[in-house]
Amino acid sequence: MISAFNFLCFPSLNGGFSFKRTSTKSTFLFYMAIFTGIYGPKGIEVPNPIQSICTRWGTDPLSYGSYSHVRTKSSGSDYDILAESVGDRLFFAGEATNRHHPATMHGAYLSGLREASCILRAIRGRQSCPRKWIQKNTGPNSDMLVDLFKKPDMSFGQFLFVFDPLTEDPKSMGLMRVTFHFQNFDSEQFHKKETENNFEHNLNQPVQLYAVLSREQADGLQLVTGRNERKLTYLLKNFGLKLMGANALVLLGNSLIANIANARRGRGRTSISFGQQSAL
Ligand SMILES: Cc1cc2nc3c(=O)[nH]c(=O)nc-3n(C[C@H](O)[C@H](O)[C@H](O)COP(=O)(O)OP(=O)(O)OC[C@H]3O[C@@H](n4cnc5c(N)ncnc54)[C@H](O)[C@@H]3O)c2cc1C
Repeated sequence: MISAFNFLCFPSLNGGFSFKRTSTKSTFLFYMAIFTGIYGPKGIEVPNPIQSICTRWGTDPLSYGSYSHVRTKSSGSDYDILAESVGDRLFFAGEATNRHHPATMHGAYLSGLREASCILRAIRGRQSCPRKWIQKNTGPNSDMLVDLFKKPDMSFGQFLFVFDPLTEDPKSMGLMRVTFHFQNFDSEQFHKKETENNFEHNLNQPVQLYAVLSREQADGLQLVTGRNERKLTYLLKNFGLKLMGANALVLLGNSLIANIANARRGRGRTSISFGQQSAL
């Protein structure tokens, strides 16, 4: 005969009752009232449990939450942004970096395999060409991205923009790149270690991050005075724009990158043919 059982409860309630702010005892009484309400009318007496445990992942400083959750105005692309490595030196795994299998064990596991392969690729890149090694992206659209920003349509400070040359529509979408320099970063110790390992990568190399935005958003940004942080806060607060690395941008803005590149090529061809016509 089974004389004891575990009851496990995952609260996902809304409507005024906040588990975060409620004491363990009140939470316990809350559930007991629900059980009694269900089983009491059926003549079943609900006994007090031998033990009750109420987890508090939301306030545990080692987790501050249990697993990722897509909030209003968030999307799967936020997972890609979280997965983006920094300068091919700092890598992120975990369920919250896996947009296809978030909040699961296998999502976390697969993200670990993904990052292990990224780390291996980065190490091999440095070993094969330690002097010239720079952060590299793969794929034709990454090359296109690099080319696009060689001739930006607009720039101020550390911000560069490229847009579709075939339209002046203020709502038309373009790309922004912002460059962060870390000149004050004290990397003496790291450099020493790197040289010992024959890696001569400069830790002070700038980091470039991207965003997808419209012409009018870029125009608005141009009017914001002050430091980079002020401009970025403006983008985030007014448009909810988030910065991402090149890999995430290539994933998210794949067709936009190709469209702008094709439009530029098309315009290039057109201007050549005009030139040829006028020469004739
Ligand atoms: C109640 C519950 C039930 C679940 N049931 C299932 C299920 O049935 N099936 C399923 O597939 N998934 C389930 N999940 C989800 C699954 O457990 C997670 O998706 C998975 O554990 C995430 O793994 P992770 O490595 O990304 O993160 P975690 O397992 O959360 O690992 C992160 C680690 O980082 C540590 N850490 C955090 N901050 C710091 C810091 N500042 N310094 C050092 N260390 C730090 C944490 O202590 C933790 O050990 C469940 C989760 C919960 C909470």
